[in-house]
Amino acid sequence: MFENKSSRTELEALGEFGLIKHLTQFINLKNESSVKGVGDDAAVIDYKNKQTVISTDMLVEGVHFDLTYTPLKHLGYKSVTVNLSDIYSMNATPRQILVSIALSNRFSLEAIEELYSGITLACDRYGIDLVGGDTTTSQSGLVINVTAIGEADKKNIVYRDGAKESNLLCVSGDLGGAYVGLQLLEREKKIFKENPGVQPDLEGNDYILERQLKPEARKDLPLIFEGLEITPTAMIDISDGLASEILHICTQSGVGCNLYEEKIPIDPMTFNRAREFNLDPTTCALNGGEDYELLFTVDISHYEKIKDNPDISIIGHISDKNSGCNLVSKSGTVHPLKAQGWDALLKK
Ligand code: ADP
Ligand code: MG
Repeated sequence: MFENKSSRTELEALGEFGLIKHLTQFINLKNESSVKGVGDDAAVIDYKNKQTVISTDMLVEGVHFDLTYTPLKHLGYKSVTVNLSDIYSMNATPRQILVSIALSNRFSLEAIEELYSGITLACDRYGIDLVGGDTTTSQSGLVINVTAIGEADKKNIVYRDGAKESNLLCVSGDLGGAYVGLQLLEREKKIFKENPGVQPDLEGNDYILERQLKPEARKDLPLIFEGLEITPTAMIDISDGLASEILHICTQSGVGCNLYEEKIPIDPMTFNRAREFNLDPTTCALNGGEDYELLFTVDISHYEKIKDNPDISIIGHISDKNSGCNLVSKSGTVHPLKAQGWDALLKK
């Protein structure tokens, strides 16, 4: 892709159109549905008899990411995968993205090339075409907006509002890792600020660091559902924490649920590091967020098909609305499920 340069090239040297041309020069459209990509006033896509699924997300420097510990290549990759996650959570297949960036002269061409190499890597891994975007200036911080577009058969699309009483409540992968990874990065940043000579001690923490810096979207889940001949009744991706997402499904579906603490999947590294930070691992899973796993409900008749699937955990069941949304703790006590957000976590 971009050639390796050790020097710094100012963005002014290229101008807006030069920069767009430079960043998009290696794009080869892969999908039949991508009729027209970068280079006209609008992209053209053709999904024939399918439905179109669209989602967008904005990432703002200082709010959603911190460039002191986020490599730009990872940031580019993550800005794509978090958007694709929203398309997979509809049980749809993403095909195209548009990327809009606001830049200040603080960034060199080489820095933006890094960002785009992460974006391009994600496009290749997920089979997506970058078909357009916008480039503009910012007074200081970096802003990245990605719009993802995908397709699905109408009958396969899964909404948040379809959960039914007695459905199984399920989640892919494991939870809490991204939040604990963030705590580690924030700790090292603090140490570095106080003692600039000290090198960060991040060794042996690859899994949780990747969960935070370079998350993957669950591309495999729609395929697993297809293979098992299952259509979830409701689905959502976990961006804000398990508790918040369960409450979204239950509120929108007009149901209650019982979530069992002992069933929540937590990786051993996440568990151990959380403890070292004096954080409750369950709270990290419930309220940490950014795991980009899929939370879904299925009819109980599918129990046999999913009970031994290594990618899926059954964490509870859907009940009637009047029973409320409950967390059954490991000791058996029942608490109303609350979406506490990050503030509550930090006070622990
Ligand atoms: P307009 O003036 O009509 O907004 P632009 O000059 O902004 O057009 O964009 C020209 C082409 O380059 C369009 O196809 C647009 O989608 C694409 N483009 C602009 N910025 C980016 C970007 N950051 N990444 C990818 N494509 C971009
Ligand atoms: Mg434009």
